[in-house]
Amino acid sequence: MSENCIFCKIISGDIPSFKVFENDKVFAFLDINPLSKGHTVVIPKTHCERLEDLPEEYSSAIGSALPKIAKAVITGTGALDWNLLQNNGKSAGQEVPHLHFHIIPREKSDGLGY
Ligand code: 5GP
Ligand code: ZN
Repeated sequence: MSENCIFCKIISGDIPSFKVFENDKVFAFLDINPLSKGHTVVIPKTHCERLEDLPEEYSSAIGSALPKIAKAVITGTGALDWNLLQNNGKSAGQEVPHLHFHIIPREKSDGLGY
């Protein structure tokens, strides 16, 4: 865990969040500034900045958790379609330097494009 990391503090509970999923290696919570209803952030329970630095045990855990979390999110929101987004580095739009995946439920009328 990294002392000044917002997402590490969310994992430890020092910063409150609305939890969507948790197991020993993965945590998922609602985004504080959602692009759509149910916008969820999925993170490893180890501090790691970028996808290429993620230890194998955590990438396997996230790989198997993502479909389950996505299913729960789309079931909960009723939005059948969704995007998976993952940014690495400031130039790519990463604001929080703790690796994370966005699950963004989509509707035709959501104004996000496509
Ligand atoms: P990035 O731009 O780094 O890919 O996405 C970071 C995401 O984290 C943003 O969508 C932002 O709204 C979300 N976020 C930042 N701080 C917090 C927080 O304290 N709580 C929650 N729930 N989400 C946060
Ligand atoms: Zn962290």
